[in-house]
Amino acid sequence: MYTILVSFFIPNRYLLCKITLLFLNKTRVGDKFCDSVCPSRKKVLILFPIMESLLNENQIEQLRQLVSQSQHTVVCCHVNPDGDAVGSVLAIVHCLRRLGHETTAIVPTPFPDFLDWMPGADDIVVYSKQVEEAKLLIEKADLFVVADLNDPSRLADMQECVMGNPAPKILIDHHLDPFDFCQLNVSHPELCATCEILCHLFWQLGEMDKLTPEEATCLYAGMMCDTGGFTYASNRPVIYECISLLLSRGIDKDKIYRNVFWTSTPNRLKLMGYMLFVKMKVLRKMNTCIMTLTNEERYRFGSKNGDTEGFVNLPLQIMGMRLSIFLNEDTEHPEVVRVSLRSVDDFPCNEMAAQFFNGGGHKNASGGRLQCTMEEAVRVAQKAIQAYSALLK
Ligand code: 5GP
Ligand code: MN
Repeated sequence: MYTILVSFFIPNRYLLCKITLLFLNKTRVGDKFCDSVCPSRKKVLILFPIMESLLNENQIEQLRQLVSQSQHTVVCCHVNPDGDAVGSVLAIVHCLRRLGHETTAIVPTPFPDFLDWMPGADDIVVYSKQVEEAKLLIEKADLFVVADLNDPSRLADMQECVMGNPAPKILIDHHLDPFDFCQLNVSHPELCATCEILCHLFWQLGEMDKLTPEEATCLYAGMMCDTGGFTYASNRPVIYECISLLLSRGIDKDKIYRNVFWTSTPNRLKLMGYMLFVKMKVLRKMNTCIMTLTNEERYRFGSKNGDTEGFVNLPLQIMGMRLSIFLNEDTEHPEVVRVSLRSVDDFPCNEMAAQFFNGGGHKNASGGRLQCTMEEAVRVAQKAIQAYSALLK
């Protein structure tokens, strides 16, 4: 979908045309001699839309109606929220409040401390800690926006309450295989983060020019977290169009990076050292690493919620490693082992997660859970590695 303009090959007029289009700021301008369009070899300007229009006219109308008819919106996301989940929830809440809507953010369980700095994080209601307050807000809600999750079961203990309220629901998500439980589905697994979907939506709805620095910061943080600081799932050029627009809305991307990836506590660094030195098992023949962490070890290091975030990525720095498995005893349910999987290239973590760990996710970053002891979880992981040995060796 692009427009082709033929301009006269007079340098000044051509330049003027190009500068004007750049100022319009709605299109990316390319140019080339295009013999089929213009056999006389006049220069041709090609206008690519900068951003993607994700909704059709009906969906835009439906979205506007759902939002304008609501008195109180609840915005929620998946259990154990990550940066993209918190970023998308907060960006939506800030935007709706700016437009005059009463809106509350509710997350099923606490988010990691390294997201505390995010604008509006203090106002988030955590269901597992504020059950009564959260239930009242959910019962009162007449619209839900469900961000960064593809299945109501990812709402964990909040699921029953949210699904028990018949109010309309809007899904905004980038996970594969979305479950059909919302009136409006904005599902785009090809995009790097739910926050990227929101960038395109805000652009399409004419909100991009009005974003506050706080909203833009939440969107950037979400995209940055889901791409490991733009080091994976981040090769699509339009991602950098989004970033360019967010920079023009006043974000400090260097500070956001420091806040998320370069802020630690002594205890976290000591735990990381222990995990790498003592707990990392390298299965050379399988190009796989396994790490385990029990609650007893966590307490020994005075570890806090979120301290292990990112640990699963570390073994993939070892040359040739294709898969990293992190088995993490759940702090709130000690009989549950949470599983994190990360891979490089084409290894399908999500298939392994679905087949062996009751989970799913993205090709290179997935997760799941096992209801068993750590010893049994290690045996399941070994079975999974064997089953996928042809893809790992
Ligand atoms: P993490 O390892 O950071 O907990 O999760 C990585 C990704 O895996 C998440 O962004 C999510 O897409 C997916 N994931 C994690 N746990 C589950 C789960 O229990 N079920 C499903 N379907 N996906 C999960
Ligand atoms: Mn996400």
